[in-house]
Amino acid sequence: MSDEKKSLNFIEQIIEDDLASGFPQSKLRFRFPPEPNGYLHIGHAKSICLNFGLGEKYNAPVNLRFDDTNPEKEDPEYIDAIKRDIQWLGFTWDKELYASDYFEQLYDWAEQMIRQGKAYVDDQPQEVIVEQRKSPTEPGIESPYRNRSVDENLDLFRRMRAGEFDEGERVLRAKIDMNSPNMHMRDPIMYRIKKAPHHRTGTAWKIYPTYDWTHGQSDYIEQVSHSLCTLEFLPHRELYDWFLDQVYEPGKVRPKQREFARLNLSYTVMSKRKLARLVEEGYVKGWDDPRMPTISGLRRRGYTPQSIRDFSDRVGVAKRDNLIDIALLEFAVRDHLNKVAPRRMAVLNPVKLVIENYPEGQTEWLDAENNPEDPEAGFRKIPFGRELYIEREDFREQANRKFFRLTLGKEVRLKNAYIIKGESVVKDDEGNIVEIRATYDPLSKSGSGTPESKRKVKGTLHWVAAGHAVPLEVRLYDRLFTVEQPDAVEGRDFTEFINPESLRVITAYGEPSLGEVKPCERFQFQRLGYFAVDPDSRAGKPVFNRTVTLKDTWAKIKARQN
Ligand code: ATP
Ligand code: MG
Repeated sequence: MSDEKKSLNFIEQIIEDDLASGFPQSKLRFRFPPEPNGYLHIGHAKSICLNFGLGEKYNAPVNLRFDDTNPEKEDPEYIDAIKRDIQWLGFTWDKELYASDYFEQLYDWAEQMIRQGKAYVDDQPQEVIVEQRKSPTEPGIESPYRNRSVDENLDLFRRMRAGEFDEGERVLRAKIDMNSPNMHMRDPIMYRIKKAPHHRTGTAWKIYPTYDWTHGQSDYIEQVSHSLCTLEFLPHRELYDWFLDQVYEPGKVRPKQREFARLNLSYTVMSKRKLARLVEEGYVKGWDDPRMPTISGLRRRGYTPQSIRDFSDRVGVAKRDNLIDIALLEFAVRDHLNKVAPRRMAVLNPVKLVIENYPEGQTEWLDAENNPEDPEAGFRKIPFGRELYIEREDFREQANRKFFRLTLGKEVRLKNAYIIKGESVVKDDEGNIVEIRATYDPLSKSGSGTPESKRKVKGTLHWVAAGHAVPLEVRLYDRLFTVEQPDAVEGRDFTEFINPESLRVITAYGEPSLGEVKPCERFQFQRLGYFAVDPDSRAGKPVFNRTVTLKDTWAKIKARQN
């Protein structure tokens, strides 16, 4: 779809309306504001695609702002990971900024509010403050410290900053309205005492500003025009605007907070706090475990940046929260990899196939197309011989008419090679098939143009030549959770729904070129799925992650809905 034809999402509509009523396009500015307390996940990717997508569409700068106001939970490791992930997605930020760079300015504004009688120091503990707020339908109780003199407030606030009090002993609160129907307006906390060192400001600060006090002011300092956040911040908007009223100077851009629906994805959890638990409690091997919905996990799994951006487009920008089926994400990566991933042959569950009438000791190097979707991808040579491996599931001794794979007395084609016919099987003492014996038609070679090669047979199988096959460690992933919404089951912890079979490691056999691969390369293993080379690979010991199978469950889901 061309850009013109796509209908505007509601955020774009808001921007168009602002431009139509005179807001200059040159003043549009956006930001992506992660807290560096974990790795980014696919939900953040949604927000990144939205903000940076608007930047691209309107040729406007987009800041990367680290919202670093909780020193205990934040770490420079996360800052690096966040930057790497955004770059990998293919976006470029204008400025790299830190809310902590605004601490002095925020402090000055807070003193100004104290002087204007709009903020006060409260000596009560957090629980009492929360209790006094009551509920939206009843009036709140005013703090006994609410009407302290300006001088006393200034003195206490300065001593809070100097570190004279312990954590929890005092807070600074905005003096707004203890009867507001909006609980966020009932004298919200602006500062709390924290003695933890900060990864950027060290031990300079003993007090830290809250999210509400920091976020809008940071937007204002940066002159962000549209501050987009997720729906749970809708009730905060009134406070966002109230705080801006305290510092706004005419002539400046006044940032607008607007809210869109969070991305929720089935069969996973999507909050840094919960993802951190999966890592810390050892359910996965790290933030970049290919089962994680983190951007680094998806990258390692074999997802392409384009597939994630395409997914984000397909999800769209919604006004109501909903649950997106993970099959849509899988659809997006399958769709992209189909176009770009070179084809290779590998056998995951091998059984030996011997072609009785093929000369012993002979090897033929056959032409195999690298990607039928991309003629420029060319051809490669693959070896063929008397002894091969095929998938155990591709053979049945007795089969009904619907079984189009190999059986005794019937013909199938070996991909890029010959037509063969099943002749007999060799079994071990327990009755397991250890070898399938077949014959081939020497005139039926693929692409040879002979009448025999054009003969129609029902099935085509992938295979590898036994003498040339390279062993591959293959990690087969399944959904990390057994239920659609693991964190929405009453009274149960989401870790109770971990899928015990989310990872299965096998040794497969691959065609020779799969022995010489580089981390992050992606392939289609024909008839099986898409596989990406894991960084754990060593020379001669390749490790592959299954990104996704070839089966499109999303098409089925859609068909059911229509
Ligand atoms: P989490 O609960 O996972 O830690 P967060 O909202 O606290 O998420 P931040 O680092 O504060 O994480 O978020 C940075 C930006 O990403 C915010 O603008 C936030 O609204 C957005 N964001 C976070 N999660 C999602 C999601 N699931 N869908 C869309 N946007 C999201
Ligand atoms: Mg957060």
